[in-house]
Amino acid sequence: MPNRMLFKLFAIPAALLAGSIASMYVLGNLIPSHFEGISMFSKMSEQSLSAAPWAGALLLLGAIAFFWVSFARLRKWQNGKATCCSQCGGMVDQKFGKYGPYLNCLACGKNESN
Ligand SMILES: [Zn+2]
Repeated sequence: MPNRMLFKLFAIPAALLAGSIASMYVLGNLIPSHFEGISMFSKMSEQSLSAAPWAGALLLLGAIAFFWVSFARLRKWQNGKATCCSQCGGMVDQKFGKYGPYLNCLACGKNESN
């Protein structure tokens, strides 16, 4: 199984997971500690602290949802029920370009019209 295909398949869930962790850190730790001494920004600091778990949870839910979809696509491809690349047999993405819909292979990167 080509690594390129797995990377492209799970890039969005991984990015959302990293975003979830980063938002928890920035909203829950970095912003409140940076502005806690300044009275003008105390309200913003409080709001940032209360928004941190929600932003983190929302991004985490998005990551789980995208991971689930990617995993389901992978299972479908492994069972031979998905459309495959004619060159290498890898998984394909349906895309829409300037000249209409086409298939982009996640494994070898080749495009083919359908
Ligand atoms: Zn291919």
